[in-house]
Amino acid sequence: MHEYSLASAIVEQVEKIALEHKAVKVKKIIVSASPYELIIPELLYGAYEIIVSENEMFKGSTLEYIVQKAEITCLDCGYQGEPDEEGDPEFAYNFKCPKCGGRDTHINMKSMVIESIDLEIPSETEEQEKKKEENIVN
Ligand SMILES: [Zn+2]
Repeated sequence: MHEYSLASAIVEQVEKIALEHKAVKVKKIIVSASPYELIIPELLYGAYEIIVSENEMFKGSTLEYIVQKAEITCLDCGYQGEPDEEGDPEFAYNFKCPKCGGRDTHINMKSMVIESIDLEIPSETEEQEKKKEENIVN
């Protein structure tokens, strides 16, 4: 259900942007989210297909989901960026700071964002990719 509500939020946002640009078709959407969102891509794509199946503007469009890199803030030295190590479940919520080696770190959560939207706009001869970074409420 998490994926379904995300997919409908994506469609809602993209439709708004497409209308603003007077687009007739949405061709491709790329979204990204934090690895801690625990999104199952197949469920997201499946939900997207269902939501857009009756929508002429989205017919034949594709949705691509990419996972953002983990980012931490070190509470000891103030470092912000990628952690020193990844994927150790024991330390999943306590990444090591690459600057001071401390484990008093905090994961920076970022909600799902639209990375790019490929639209078909009749008034323009060349296809244009509209780069957008918009937060989706989830
Ligand atoms: Zn540190």
